[in-house]
Amino acid sequence: MAAGLADAGRLLRSGEITATALLEEALGTASRTEAQLHAFLTIDSEGAREAAAQADADFADGVDFGPLHGIPVALKDNLCTRGLETTAGSQILAGYVPPYDATVVERLRHGGAVIVGKTNLDEFAMGSSTENSAYGPTYNPWDLSRVPGGSSGGSAAVVAAGSALLGLGSDTGGSIRQPASLCGVVGMKPTYGTVSRYGLIAFASSLDQIGPFTRTVEDSAIALSTIWGHDPLDSTSYAGKYPDPVAGLERGVDGLKVGIVTELSGEGFEPGVEAATGDMLGRLEKAGVQLVEVSLPTFEIALSAYYLIAPAEASSNLARFDGIRYGLRVEGPTTEELMARTRAEGFGPEVTRRILLGTYSLSAGYYDAFYGQAQRVRAAIQEDFARAYDLVDVLVSPTSPTVAFEAGARTSDPLAMYLSDICNIPANMAGHPAMTVPIGLDDSGLPIGFQVMAPPLGEQIMYQVAAEVERQAAFVIAPTAVQVAR
Ligand code: GLN
Repeated sequence: MAAGLADAGRLLRSGEITATALLEEALGTASRTEAQLHAFLTIDSEGAREAAAQADADFADGVDFGPLHGIPVALKDNLCTRGLETTAGSQILAGYVPPYDATVVERLRHGGAVIVGKTNLDEFAMGSSTENSAYGPTYNPWDLSRVPGGSSGGSAAVVAAGSALLGLGSDTGGSIRQPASLCGVVGMKPTYGTVSRYGLIAFASSLDQIGPFTRTVEDSAIALSTIWGHDPLDSTSYAGKYPDPVAGLERGVDGLKVGIVTELSGEGFEPGVEAATGDMLGRLEKAGVQLVEVSLPTFEIALSAYYLIAPAEASSNLARFDGIRYGLRVEGPTTEELMARTRAEGFGPEVTRRILLGTYSLSAGYYDAFYGQAQRVRAAIQEDFARAYDLVDVLVSPTSPTVAFEAGARTSDPLAMYLSDICNIPANMAGHPAMTVPIGLDDSGLPIGFQVMAPPLGEQIMYQVAAEVERQAAFVIAPTAVQVAR
């Protein structure tokens, strides 16, 4: 198998492989692993075969749409795809076939990418294990008794297994980085506003961002270059100058200042995770960085504030699922009863919990005490980050306090599940870019991720550091629980 999408691109252009052969390899991997992983909700073999054949015809004609041309990709099932069922992992959207493509999907299609299918997720992206999907859980390709993380667990598992060379996910509070970490792949959340959310089924609009899952850091930077950019269809889309994420990859890290976040260690962090993180910090220091301990005290309250802001916004966003316009409809004697029955039947327990929490905290008399207070915490987090970035170029931490946990271990304890994202949520609250790079395995053979965070639009320096982390780690993506290569 190609080492990643950049490598596959070279093989496609030298004629050593065809897009069709690349796709058949991906589909073959999917058919060998899906019974165990359940990472896809839809596989579009027919559409993918047509797109691959078209890519081969294009290459034969000397037509080249760039780095994603002919590359098999998988999309989280909260991204709208024209003509292809899009469920957001919810019963309420069962059978929904969007009449349009999300902007990111359109960009992929224009770039000649081959869309293999749609991947599993926690319902409406609410969760950290992909166990909240209405269509059943996904399992971790390194250990089938464990979760792949979430909410974009399907895309993470698919890229780890090799059924696609690029996966897209969404990250509202860690949903790309945490599953990427638990599945041993690279996952990246861009600066808020840089990737269009047009056609992303909204969860919490002030936090949601789309980003790539890849097998290498270079692949991630290449994929980002294709999917991001101004889009007039998204009112939050950034219209200024975008950095070049690829430019710094070979630069090394000599002379950079790297901040270690004090708050993201200690209690709750597994010894294996802390050891691997410490080892990587030592290597970075040898490679020339200056390590600085930085305290960001507001990180301790970021999670609580997130669980007011995200549910509040979700309760508003999910009001559109009413049984009238699209998706599930459960008939009732009155319109109101129809809506109530549809929502009671269509939403699962976690989504219901968030809607209740969000509606309550926004209600008259409570607004300032809850939502208003959370917004003040958010501003304080941004100030903390700004102070830190006066001292250092990037901030680093483990991506997740633990490796992949056992399926079922946190399903009956929402707080334990919420704590899975403790390292990830601050970057969402500030709107900053952040990514994870796999750096090693713990004693039980499970992947450990290393998080790099950067200031807004700091993608170039973030990738520069991530590329060094990748070189130092020399991590091999070889999930042991599934048969991934022939
Ligand atoms: N796990 C977090 C939550 O449940 C984050 C989810 C996400 O980033 N979509 O809200």
